[in-house]
Amino acid sequence: MSEPSPDARKRLDLGDTVVVATGNPHKVTEIAAILGRALPAVRFVAISELGDFPEPVEDGDTFAANARIKALAAARETGLAAVADDSGLCVDALRGEPGVMSARWAGVHGDDPRNNAKLMAAMEGVPEEERTARFRSAVCLVAPDGEELIGEGACEGMVGFEPRGTGGFGYDPLFWPDETPGKTMAELAPDEKNAISHRFHALEALAAQLA
Ligand code: IMP
Repeated sequence: MSEPSPDARKRLDLGDTVVVATGNPHKVTEIAAILGRALPAVRFVAISELGDFPEPVEDGDTFAANARIKALAAARETGLAAVADDSGLCVDALRGEPGVMSARWAGVHGDDPRNNAKLMAAMEGVPEEERTARFRSAVCLVAPDGEELIGEGACEGMVGFEPRGTGGFGYDPLFWPDETPGKTMAELAPDEKNAISHRFHALEALAAQLA
C-alpha cells in the first residue's frame, strides 16, 4: 500500500491517553508497540485497567464496522480516545466464511477447538489448490471528539488438512501463511507472527494515516 501524502494524513486530537478496547493482553502490547511509533507522546491503556465496561454488540457485517462499534463504545464509556480491532478468517472455498463470524462460528464465542473442527469438516475433500484463505483485520481509532480513522490489513495463506503447532490462538494451527513456507501460524514465534499478521498490516495502515 502506498503512503498517504502528508496532506492526506489526519491530525487527530487524541489527548495523552488511548484506551485499547480488547480483553487480549497480547493485542494491547502489539497495538501499543506499532501505534506508539506514530504517536510517541501517547500512553496506551487496556480498557480492563480502567473499569468493568459492558461489551457492545458486534453486529456489523464487516470487520471495519465491528472495529468501529468497539472503538466508539470504549470512547463513549471512558471519555478518552480509543482503539479497537476486529479480525477473522476468510476462506475462498467457503465464499469468505467464517469471516465476521470467526469467533463464534461453531456456536460458542471463542471456542477454538470447535471452530477448528468445523473448519476441517467444511474443507473435507477440497483439494490443496482450492484451499486459499486470508486472515483479515480492521483497526479503528476514535478521538474523544468523534473523529476516526480505520486501517485494514490481510495475511494471505492456505487452510491445512490437519492442525499443527501449539502457539497463537484461534485458527492458527490450520493456517499456513504464504510468507512463512513450511510453518503454520501456530508454529511461529510471537515476533514472527507479529511481523506478518493481518493485525500488523492493519495497524501499519492506520499508523501511516496519522500526522
Ligand atoms: P477477534 O477480532 O479477536 O474477536 O477475533 C475473531 C476471531 O477470529 C478469533 O476468535 C479467531 O477465531 C479468529 N482470529 C482472529 N485473529 C486471529 C489470529 O491471529 N489467529 C487465529 N485466529 C484469529
